[in-house]
Amino acid sequence: MARIVMKFGGTSVADLDKISNVARHVKREIDAGHEVAVVVSAMAGRTNELVAWTRDAAARPDQREYDVVVSSGEQITSGLLALKLQDMGVKARSWQGWQIPMHTDAMHGAARILDIDSKVLDAHFAIGEVAVMAGFQGLAPGNRISTLGRGGSDTSAVAIAAAIGADLCDIYTDVDGVYTTDPRIVTKVRRLDRISYEEMLEMASLGAKVLQTRSVRMAMVHGVRLRVRSSFEAPDKVPPVDMDNLAALGTLVCNEDEIMEQQVVSGIAYTRDEAKVTLIRVDDKPGVSARIFGLLADANITVDVIVQNVSEDGNHTDVTFTVPESDLERTRGVLEAARPEIGYGELVDSTDIVKISVIGAGMRTHAGVAAQMFGALASKGINIQAITTSEIKISVLIDAEYTELALRTLHSSYGLDQD
Ligand code: ADP
Ligand code: ASP
Ligand code: MG
Repeated sequence: MARIVMKFGGTSVADLDKISNVARHVKREIDAGHEVAVVVSAMAGRTNELVAWTRDAAARPDQREYDVVVSSGEQITSGLLALKLQDMGVKARSWQGWQIPMHTDAMHGAARILDIDSKVLDAHFAIGEVAVMAGFQGLAPGNRISTLGRGGSDTSAVAIAAAIGADLCDIYTDVDGVYTTDPRIVTKVRRLDRISYEEMLEMASLGAKVLQTRSVRMAMVHGVRLRVRSSFEAPDKVPPVDMDNLAALGTLVCNEDEIMEQQVVSGIAYTRDEAKVTLIRVDDKPGVSARIFGLLADANITVDVIVQNVSEDGNHTDVTFTVPESDLERTRGVLEAARPEIGYGELVDSTDIVKISVIGAGMRTHAGVAAQMFGALASKGINIQAITTSEIKISVLIDAEYTELALRTLHSSYGLDQD
């Protein structure tokens, strides 16, 4: 017998038929003798609709009330799934974040989980009752409802798994695992049987939204066994969880040493969520970069790729960097206000860019991965606007128009295409 957390995303609970399907997945595990805690998302599209309502209601919504509104989608699904389970003769009840409670900090809209009181959940396990928990939400100081940021139900599931000492956290979604790149864009993708925590962390943070980045970090830190699998398979056609054979189904996120044959490049991710900013004719003297990026840090704006050109005249240079697109307005505001102090000619920005990243733990020991990337892009006439690297990834900024072409080209170039 194992203790497992089963998490179901928005498309898996999109309507009552799908919720019935989810209930059958849960019942299969209960019938096999496993202890189960379930975490659910809001029905597909619901959270977007709720976010839009808050924006219609107020130009700059109070984040605490925003959380009250957007957390409600998960409340509905948790109740509906508990009802469906009861209907099938499975003992079940719903739990909201505040009832557990799942304590978070006060960063409404993107709160961090501080601790989870698992005592009450343990007591319900003891009486054989399935806990159906609303993902994405918690309890902030002052007894206020908080939410964990978009895609946060993955993090709720991993946090619950860590708190109750679960043997496995199964993330059920609309794809049957983690692929070499987003299957919505490239058709020749391959499913990975295993991926290391570190690679998955890079994939997620560089744009592969199949798992929320924070959920992967939390699983890595707490040693939670994490697997991505499909909820769309017929529940009675798949075997119940077998802890001795986890890689037989979906994608297992695991330690690097559990992967027999490490690929040089495991996957490719992309994000269109960044904007490029260039400051033209910046004074080329000590302290200027510190001032620019210090001001942005003070405004809580995270800067990603940074490129500084070599000064042509010895007095001036251009500085290019990227920020989240949602922070572009604020970035402009901060830098335009500080223009006399920083000293630059012009600020130009662009949102027509995409950041494409190749990821692979094998890069630590293999040379030439970057050269291959640049060569493949050049062969299609795609111009690289900026480059950044770390131990296991290389990212480039290119024109957004070439997103699909670049992904397909790189996917073939690194031998990732399905045979
Ligand atoms: P859920 O609602 O279940 O949380 P998400 O939409 O958040 O589902 O995540 C699943 C989606 O992630 C897939 O439909 C797929 O388009 C996308 N995705 C992006 N990159 C990848 C990848 N490398 N492997 C698998 N899915 C990916
Ligand atoms: N419903 C939330 C969202 O759409 C949380 C989640 O699905 O993980 O972001
Ligand atoms: Mg998701």
